[in-house]
Amino acid sequence: MLCTDVWTTALLDPTGIDSHIRPKKRQVFQVSGPEIGRFVEHPMVEGADTVPFVVLPSHRVYMRPEPRSRSLWISVADEYGRDFSFTEDPQPEPEFYEKSVFPVARSYLPPILSSARVTSMWAGHYAYNTIDRTHYIFRDLNVIVATGTSGSGIMKGDAAGRIVSALLGGKEFAELYNGERVRVSDLGGGGEACSEGAYGDLIRQ
Ligand SMILES: Cc1cc2nc3c(=O)[nH]c(=O)nc-3n(C[C@H](O)[C@H](O)[C@H](O)COP(=O)(O)OP(=O)(O)OC[C@H]3O[C@@H](n4cnc5c(N)ncnc54)[C@H](O)[C@@H]3O)c2cc1C
Repeated sequence: MLCTDVWTTALLDPTGIDSHIRPKKRQVFQVSGPEIGRFVEHPMVEGADTVPFVVLPSHRVYMRPEPRSRSLWISVADEYGRDFSFTEDPQPEPEFYEKSVFPVARSYLPPILSSARVTSMWAGHYAYNTIDRTHYIFRDLNVIVATGTSGSGIMKGDAAGRIVSALLGGKEFAELYNGERVRVSDLGGGGEACSEGAYGDLIRQ
């Protein structure tokens, strides 16, 4: 079983099985400052303990409040100019924040962000299913592959686990947490394993 998300392509390549996913570096910047501290401590919605997660209309720059550290986590899933490449230890790029993220965020919240500074940053990869950005879960001979989380694998983890479990158990449908049923093969990229034609009997054994 390969539940190795962005590492899946390199692991499958020598076998001749196509992972159908591509990596893109993604970065998160923690920004802090007195104004941000006050901002995240004042919920706008009754009953909430902080401001909402905000996706700005411009370029979909997003801001996640982190009241415990009195900070905002700011990021954007940039597309153009961000190549499909993978390194084991991706590094965040301060200049990406300064030139591409900060100007957008500051234009929406000038009093809060103008004097903010980056207090931490980190980077990883999204493993994109470049066709429809859903999980890609399939079986080929004796290997089950679950990949292509496309940047939302935490959110979709429960559903993905249930679909993998159904696939392992040879079931046609998986039942999700809310009782909805999903046809397992729908996550397999529109077809059975690439070797189904040649080795169908083996798969069914
Ligand atoms: C900056 C950033 C922000 C994100 N924000 C969100 C968010 O807000 N919400 C959300 O839902 N998702 C978010 N994601 C995506 C989410 O983190 C991933 O979709 C999720 O972690 C994928 O989980 P996974 O278990 O499939 O793979 P991973 O968590 O990537 O686990 C794969 C594991 O396989 C291991 N591995 C690799 N090769 C081998 C090998 N040969 N043998 C054994 N083990 C191996 C790796 O070490 C790794 O531990 C974000 C991702 C990034 C990079």
